[in-house]
Amino acid sequence: MSTAQDTLETLRRGNAAFIHEVASSDGAISIPTPDHGVVPPQKPMAVVLSCADSRVPPEVIFQQGCGRIFVHRVAGHVLDVHMSESIEFGCAGLGAKLVLVLGHRDCGAIKSTLGYPKGSTDSFPYLETVREAIRPAVESCQHDYDSASDKNEVIHAAVEQHVVATVKKVREVSSGWGDGIEVVGAVFDISSGEVSFLEE
Ligand SMILES: [Zn+2]
Repeated sequence: MSTAQDTLETLRRGNAAFIHEVASSDGAISIPTPDHGVVPPQKPMAVVLSCADSRVPPEVIFQQGCGRIFVHRVAGHVLDVHMSESIEFGCAGLGAKLVLVLGHRDCGAIKSTLGYPKGSTDSFPYLETVREAIRPAVESCQHDYDSASDKNEVIHAAVEQHVVATVKKVREVSSGWGDGIEVVGAVFDISSGEVSFLEE
């Protein structure tokens, strides 16, 4: 069974291959698929908690085919009880040793949280519970966001802060899931294809 660090290296190599394909190909990317007629066992090497953003497909950006990563996606990669239980299943039930929390640049959930502070009204009222989950992690960015003429870098800083906060939450709930489980954070740059793993 792969260790968390082995898996992290596999994901790094997969992303490097993806970046190479983005830069050099005509946009057609292939990832491994199961043999026809065969139902392979489910033994993912990693659990991924990612934003639901349609431009952030984890299997593609890490070049991992069917059965390789156990992916959870929701706007703003917020951790709730359903996600937590499912991530636990990925680790304690299926044997994954690495949990990756994956944020991304230009995240609409983060932009909505900073753009519509608590109490304000907007055209996405159905996102309020998501924003409530994100808000504590990005509150310190609110002043800079409000005063910045170019808000992109503030948004990026907030994305990183929310990833770090989510990593912390996953670590808290995962403490009893078994030995050797590591939780790391990363941010995907949609324009370059690069995943930057956050240093601790
Ligand atoms: Zn997003």
